[in-house]
Amino acid sequence: MKSTVFFATAKQAWLSDSETLPRKLDLILERLKIKDRVKNERVCIKMHLGGNVGYSTIHPVFVRRVVKAVLDGGGKPFVTDTAGAVATAYERGYTHETLGCPIYPIAGPDERHVYWKKRPYKNLEQWGLAGEIADATFLIDLAHVKGHPSCAYGGAIKNLALGAMIAATRGAIHDTVHFDPYWFPEKCSDPLMIEKIIASCPFGALVRDRDDARRIHLHTEPCNQCGRCLEVAPKGSLKIDPVNFRSFMEACAISTKLCLDTFDRDKTVFINVAIHMTAVCDCFGFTGPAILNDVGIFGSDDIVAVEQATLDALAPMKIIEENVPSVFELQPNAPHPLASLHGPLKNPYIVVEECEKLDLGRREYKLVDVLPYKDSRSKAGAPYVAASGL
Ligand code: SF4
Repeated sequence: MKSTVFFATAKQAWLSDSETLPRKLDLILERLKIKDRVKNERVCIKMHLGGNVGYSTIHPVFVRRVVKAVLDGGGKPFVTDTAGAVATAYERGYTHETLGCPIYPIAGPDERHVYWKKRPYKNLEQWGLAGEIADATFLIDLAHVKGHPSCAYGGAIKNLALGAMIAATRGAIHDTVHFDPYWFPEKCSDPLMIEKIIASCPFGALVRDRDDARRIHLHTEPCNQCGRCLEVAPKGSLKIDPVNFRSFMEACAISTKLCLDTFDRDKTVFINVAIHMTAVCDCFGFTGPAILNDVGIFGSDDIVAVEQATLDALAPMKIIEENVPSVFELQPNAPHPLASLHGPLKNPYIVVEECEKLDLGRREYKLVDVLPYKDSRSKAGAPYVAASGL
């Protein structure tokens, strides 16, 4: 059976607020029956509240619609994110007054409100799940869609995979990319050659290992898998290996499962807001130009389906090249426009597949447009007259 994903297009025909995304978000919330499901529930609205001077996280106008639906249904909502993001959230317009509910640091102000979950994976044994999300009885995962340097794409899964964990676990998830070896010093011991290999990367993705100067350390985030370093490195000394890139995405799937396992399956809702999509994630603390046109909002009870539907909607789109920061070099033959930005091994569908394998949802979905776009120029029965100009 297919999961249902409700969709609101960003496209607008008439100059009416009823066709704008905040109003259409109300329609999605109605179709998800939020008001009927949250009575007396402690509702955690997990967001990314950004940092510093970022302004492309989800605008308070939208958050307020979600909070209102929960309050109207008799639920007890709170918005949450990491302690650092919450501490400065007011600078970006997020306050109790603007949102209509309190904002709490997800693991408390000092990250002491934490539940440890045992699940061995590569360098990880224990995962620190943040207490505020684990103690909630209902979850609304309210995610901003954007690019991401580790996995090409950030949406509902990444909002939980990293955002529901404490800082030490978030760091360990990022470090999974270094677990499988990619530098083999026995195949290259010449310091001059090591320098040459490092210099061959135009993106600064290769550096000397800070603990051992005979080793090369690969920053997978800026690496777009262009292959230049492999042209220089002696055979067998360096690998740009799918396994290292895949580790981060597999870890994200595990992390998401550890978080969602604390909720009854019918008490989770996932919303992706796919507007002002930037090249990198909201953690960077600034906002660049949008690199994809606005698409709209997706909502579902199924985290796998909502991510699949969002990625599928972005798949045929073209990156707005003039808006891409010049530190990027678009890669051909990538499986998705966002992967063309971050490299083909960062296939954004991998984490969705991994979440499906962990039984978090289904990739097959039915898309239901809550207010289909109708071109204002196509009036039934009226003959078409071409504009001639004056
Ligand atoms: S593949 Fe390209 S981007 Fe990645 S480390 Fe090598 S040179 Fe740098």
